[in-house]
Amino acid sequence: MIDNHDPRVAEGLRPIINVSGTMTSLGASIVVPEAVEAMRAFLPQFVEMGDLQRKASAEIALTCGSEAGYITACTAAGITLSIAAAMTGTDLCAIERLPDAAGLKHEVPIQMGHMCHYGAPVEQAIRLAGAKPIPIGTATRVDEYQLAGALNERTAAALFVVSHHVVHYGQIPLRRFADICHARGVPVVVDAASEYDLTGFLNQGADVAIYSAHKFLGGPTAGIVAGRKDLIRAAYLQNSGIGRKMKVGKESVIGTIAALRAWRQRDHAAVRARERRALDLWRERFSQLPGLLATIVPDPTANPLDRLELRVDAARAKLAAWDLADRLAAGEPPVIVRDHEVEHGYFLLDPCNLHPGQELTVAERVETICRAAQQDSGTATSLAERQARRQAAMLTWPD
Ligand SMILES: *Cc1c(COP(=O)(O)O)cnc(C)c1O
Repeated sequence: MIDNHDPRVAEGLRPIINVSGTMTSLGASIVVPEAVEAMRAFLPQFVEMGDLQRKASAEIALTCGSEAGYITACTAAGITLSIAAAMTGTDLCAIERLPDAAGLKHEVPIQMGHMCHYGAPVEQAIRLAGAKPIPIGTATRVDEYQLAGALNERTAAALFVVSHHVVHYGQIPLRRFADICHARGVPVVVDAASEYDLTGFLNQGADVAIYSAHKFLGGPTAGIVAGRKDLIRAAYLQNSGIGRKMKVGKESVIGTIAALRAWRQRDHAAVRARERRALDLWRERFSQLPGLLATIVPDPTANPLDRLELRVDAARAKLAAWDLADRLAAGEPPVIVRDHEVEHGYFLLDPCNLHPGQELTVAERVETICRAAQQDSGTATSLAERQARRQAAMLTWPD
């Protein structure tokens, strides 16, 4: 196992306890030993990348039940390159001309409730190919006729997003979405970056499904593009066009192949049991603290992963949910929580990236901060000020 506290790695940096989830901004996930070893052994060697990607295609086909597949830089790149594939096919001139889309099909319908931000806006991944996002319906209600009405001879592909980030009601489900698109000959690209289900979206009609190797799979940073062979081939060919700017190295391809193999062999029940022990420990310990309400909640897109929701009654706890999150992040070692809905007075603790024993450190840190807050005369701070502070810090990097 890689030692999270290896001083050579940590020198000058703050080693983090990640209870946030598989966040790019924290280094994604704990890379599985099989992938680490495969990359270490492969880095000094040469290979024909076409052969290596052919091997990846077979591995993806086996795991995802797709006709073919290939590896690119990440899911965001996979979205751009799949849309580009639908625009150009195997026309090498068109591939070199992108993102100039003159003369090509270039419209890409996407349900309004799917237009999320995963660290960058998803619609920008469409525009990078030279295509134009066509928002369908409204954020909270999309009807089938609105999708059907948006499909025409300019439509290149349609994009469907599966994520906790999207609106979870009032959207057209994938199977219907795909039927409507297929009736007009339009391929459907599914962003399934964080979804553990590697076969279901293709089974429901996706022509291409894209996953992040560096999330639940515990692979290196890469995107897995699985789907119809003609589209995968055309997406792969973008490497001599816009895909060059999203290139993936041999180590990431071999590391992803190893991570896919390890995933098929993983003892998923044992992983869940370990995660459950951390959740039970936290729920037990935090229910003793004044003003805290700890509940185990399921993943919003039904991934086999539960999290602890920690609700903070600011008046009783004498600090707000964001104060607790910030004090955890500021301490030693920094504990980074999942706080994207913190304005509602809660955050989540995600157990999927814990090293053994770290759940105890998390419990102790929460207890210490909450007990200290009881002694304070202080109360909750302003959320608006916190957001302004964060934005300011972002804009002054690297200072
Ligand atoms: C993480 C994520 C992405 C981005 O994935 P990368 O592989 O980091 O580019 C895209 N879409 C969704 C829904 C995500 O969760």
